Amino acid sequence: MTSPSRTPELSEEALKHLRLGQFLQFMLPIAVGFLLVYAVFAAVLRSVALTGGTGAVLVYTLALARSRRLAARGHTERAALLSGYALLVMVALGALFLHFLFAALVLIALAGVVLVLPYVERPALARYMFVAFGVVVWMVVVAGLLPPLVEQPPLELQRWVSALAVVASVALTLRMMWVDALRLRQSLARAEQAVATRDEFLSVASHELKTPLTPLNLKLQALRRELSAPTPPCPERGLGHIEMAQRQVKKLVELVDDLLDVSRIGAGRLELHPAKVELEVLVREVMERFEPEAARAGYSLELEKAQPLVAWVDEVRFQQVLDNLLSNALKYGEGKPIRVRLESLGKRARLTVRDEGIGIPSAALERIFRRFERAVSGRHYGGLGLGLYICRQIVESSGGTIVASSTPGEGATFTVELPLAQEESAPAVSTLPPADSRHRIS
Ligand code: ADP
Repeated sequence: MTSPSRTPELSEEALKHLRLGQFLQFMLPIAVGFLLVYAVFAAVLRSVALTGGTGAVLVYTLALARSRRLAARGHTERAALLSGYALLVMVALGALFLHFLFAALVLIALAGVVLVLPYVERPALARYMFVAFGVVVWMVVVAGLLPPLVEQPPLELQRWVSALAVVASVALTLRMMWVDALRLRQSLARAEQAVATRDEFLSVASHELKTPLTPLNLKLQALRRELSAPTPPCPERGLGHIEMAQRQVKKLVELVDDLLDVSRIGAGRLELHPAKVELEVLVREVMERFEPEAARAGYSLELEKAQPLVAWVDEVRFQQVLDNLLSNALKYGEGKPIRVRLESLGKRARLTVRDEGIGIPSAALERIFRRFERAVSGRHYGGLGLGLYICRQIVESSGGTIVASSTPGEGATFTVELPLAQEESAPAVSTLPPADSRHRIS
């Protein structure tokens, strides 16, 4: 079982990024100092090319330092924009002061890189900036000191190169604006969708919570009538009312538990206490508990195969998974047989719950494991669309998988696979990380 600890640990990638960041922080002042000395040296030599080139690199280095700070604060795009501009300006100046041909070639390559910068992630951006810095220093040192490899071209051509730099800058700005507009539109659509989902959820949740209250109220009234009647109360009838009332209370408790679990998962507070669990015993116990309810609804509940298997799981939470799958089979199974199997599959245990009910459209097979997602109309079947979401969080945190397969109209099969317990594995309390820090939960 993965057991994420509560103290944040840095990943290898984050550590590398941090080291690179520290290195750049250390290098930048040295580079600026070096360039200043270099510029003074070039001025003393009265070399226009060297002074201009060094000045350009100095400006670029300062822009780089600023972009690094922006990127560190999470403003990746602004950082990309700034370093992109600085590069273009620097290379355009380079074209005027240094080797024209070399600068023109670099300009074309850099303009391409700059255009894709808005899509570059933070660590990649840092690497890119580091390499670009090296190229620039190399350019000024080597190209500035050595005699030109080719004759400087006519002024006309140099102007063209500068114009190209301006065009690339404008293209970069337009692209950034376009990306921003697209992002804005997407986040607006996401926000609207989230509000619509929340509103729908509130209406479904209040309806679901209210549904058991009416029969509960009726049963309590009947019990009261029974007890206050002039004739002596009939214990059997009274117990019947109490039993019905308890069933409604159980439904309410289950709904509230699901809601609490979802908010715990969202906040990363759903704790798992893994231990060595005899899966066969657990499956038999849960099925026994379901037997009366299944019999009342006219279902046959069969344990087709059960091997003695041991896994490290949170026993209560794993019972909850099986509870959920069996409740769903009873809810959507149309009274037809429900079959359960527990078997080993190499180093994994495989649990399947199969029914012959309404089934699930293939387009919904993945979606139903997400929060609030349902494949049926609320008018025909009650439910919040949370059970399978919670199941998947529990199973995946135990190192397992859960999937659904179905032929609509012929039933559905839910398959849970879990790693079998190894002798050396040890239990630990683990907390599910917050939902949005893990894979796609929407
Ligand atoms: P709920 O049942 O409360 O809606 P779940 O998360 O348990 O929430 O299930 C999500 C959806 O998956 C259900 O609304 C239903 O459309 C579908 N589903 C789950 N189990 C079955 C099943 N055994 N047969 C058909 N559909 C199912």
